[in-house]
Amino acid sequence: MEVYKFGGASVHNANNIRQLAKIVSSAPRPLVVVISAMGKTTNALERIVDSYFFHNSDWLEELDKLRQYHYSIARELFEYGHGIFHILDSLFSRLKKQLHSQPSMNYDYDYDRIVHFGELLSTTIISHYLNDIGIKNIWIDALSVIKTDSNYRQANIDWDATKQLIQEKINFHGTDLYITQGFIASDHNSQPVTLGREGSDFSAAIFAWALDGDRMTVWKDVDGIYSADPRYYPGARRFDRLSYRETIELAYYGAKVIHPKTLKPLKDKSIPLHVRSFLFPDKGGTIITDFAQDLEPRMPVVIVKEQQTLISVSHLDGSFITEPDMELIFSLINRHKINNNVMQRSALSLSFCVDYHRVHLPSLIEALKRHFLVKYNTDLRLITIRHYDNETIKKMTAGKEVLLHQQSRSNAYFVVR
Ligand code: ADP
Ligand code: ASP
Ligand code: MG
Repeated sequence: MEVYKFGGASVHNANNIRQLAKIVSSAPRPLVVVISAMGKTTNALERIVDSYFFHNSDWLEELDKLRQYHYSIARELFEYGHGIFHILDSLFSRLKKQLHSQPSMNYDYDYDRIVHFGELLSTTIISHYLNDIGIKNIWIDALSVIKTDSNYRQANIDWDATKQLIQEKINFHGTDLYITQGFIASDHNSQPVTLGREGSDFSAAIFAWALDGDRMTVWKDVDGIYSADPRYYPGARRFDRLSYRETIELAYYGAKVIHPKTLKPLKDKSIPLHVRSFLFPDKGGTIITDFAQDLEPRMPVVIVKEQQTLISVSHLDGSFITEPDMELIFSLINRHKINNNVMQRSALSLSFCVDYHRVHLPSLIEALKRHFLVKYNTDLRLITIRHYDNETIKKMTAGKEVLLHQQSRSNAYFVVR
């Protein structure tokens, strides 16, 4: 069996959904199709969570826009009076009911209870559309098959329970095609959880792993993995082949094209991953498997992470930063679920470069300030160059102020403004 995954961009309007139908209709069977929320729905839901959690009423207007967006796509795909409109009504009233209840004290818990609706909406529309045009499929609620702990917003998979549930529910009796959601799951109390932004790639890998898939294909708005984001670096070149190991590294340092957790379950079962273009399926793509050579062709790879904050902590009295200090700092970073990308230690300070988060980053900084002198710069960029050479370093740092620089045998990092 195979697993296909379609991201937000590949389902962001009716035309793209028709293109998805074309790809799925000629795909091998049995097949599981994992789909993200449509377009920028998750970003919109995040704005809704913020205004709900902080008690302002902006969410009403935002929710209305989201509703209009989904209904306008549905109106292009279905006839007036089609049953789908009732189903969408009931999903939106469930979401609205949630938003009319009191927020809890836990931002991440509320986040998951609201944000998971994006994937429910997209897969409901697409599953019905495919059935209507003769591509018969069964819709699976990912909450009922992917089980996790209660680490809301970044839940960890319970692999044994998940495998058992997926194998029970996705047994291909009476159908050869299932449609399900990426990014969302549920904990052992059946509360909705999410797996981290961009987590649909990871969900697809969980299904491929649990069902011993022969191959997983992610259909993107790019025709493979490039030596840099082709949207910003037109000179970037596509890799024909990458090893799992190399892809894990690229994803870990922030190449947005694939979620870093995707590779491990595939590697464990030697399931090849194909990255292909949903608009130009004939253009080939990148194949990722157990290749002996890490990347082909071999060249420097540039990975840029935006919205970075560089934090430096030291003692108010000028004493050394000790191991127990580091233990405290890392436990605070971990408790606030902030992603730490590079760090550097000197006698008197520890500097680290972290991802931005609207709620958790200010609260981490406040917590650090209770123990240390804290300085920070926001809106920075982290440039990682794998397999670096001088020419690429020069090109990427020209005209930039470098706030932190680190080099290992295979990677060079620059935190720049
Ligand atoms: P999905 O819709 O499946 O979630 P993403 O938007 O997460 O897809 O990933 C595709 C995007 O990743 C592309 O539009 C591209 O701009 C970006 N990207 C960043 N780095 C790379 C890279 N090295 N190779 C290809 N695409 C990249
Ligand atoms: N919809 C989620 C997000 O935008 C998951 C994904 O697209 O992979 O992060
Ligand atoms: Mg993505």
